[in-house]
Amino acid sequence: MIISQEEELALGKRTASDVLKKEKRDTTSENSKAVVRVGRNIAAVAGRDDFQWEFNTIQKDDTPNAFCLPGGKVFVYTGIFKYIKDDAELAAVMGHEIGHAIARHGAERVSTAMAAQTGAVVGMIALSGQDMSPATKAAMGAAFGVGVNVGVILPFSRIQEYEADRVGLILMAKAGYDPHAALNFWKAFAQQPGKKPPEFLSTHPASENRIQAINELIPEAMQYYKKPQ
Ligand SMILES: [Zn+2]
Repeated sequence: MIISQEEELALGKRTASDVLKKEKRDTTSENSKAVVRVGRNIAAVAGRDDFQWEFNTIQKDDTPNAFCLPGGKVFVYTGIFKYIKDDAELAAVMGHEIGHAIARHGAERVSTAMAAQTGAVVGMIALSGQDMSPATKAAMGAAFGVGVNVGVILPFSRIQEYEADRVGLILMAKAGYDPHAALNFWKAFAQQPGKKPPEFLSTHPASENRIQAINELIPEAMQYYKKPQ
């Protein structure tokens, strides 16, 4: 890994403000309130007081997407609510994305993307005050899952997906959401009709293997689950 945690947080902050500049925020719908409600519940059990949590909803009905930038800046696109029935399923998606951020998968991918592209320039750019070049921005976007904004996206590795699933299931359980909801979401999402699969699926393949892996992780997560009163 070639970028430090400090650089990663700076990149997360900058990428978040880029997204907010480009996209339309939804702060009034029931869905946006659910994103804040569920996000706060997960943040409360995530044990990351160093994160500056933010729970943004982006108004884009044709884009089922969600991601979490370093430092806990969560973005949920309205398009994903087509596949989400309740807070528990939303917690499955947000818990998974937060899991990627906690495990620093974005930083791993920034390192890979930058190594492939321009070597170690990223560290200098992140810490200096100057604007990122378009190439650097594209690499950041790809690394953090902001593909819709930059037109390019790197899939997470299977190991990263598994790790985020495991962390996400435990987080949602601790936050009071039944982890079985994750299974419902991924099954429904995998079966959604349409000619072109949503981008979120290309970075988060919902294969049989994945669904089975989630199934096998649920008993562990259930040990943390307390039904809310
Ligand atoms: Zn993922």
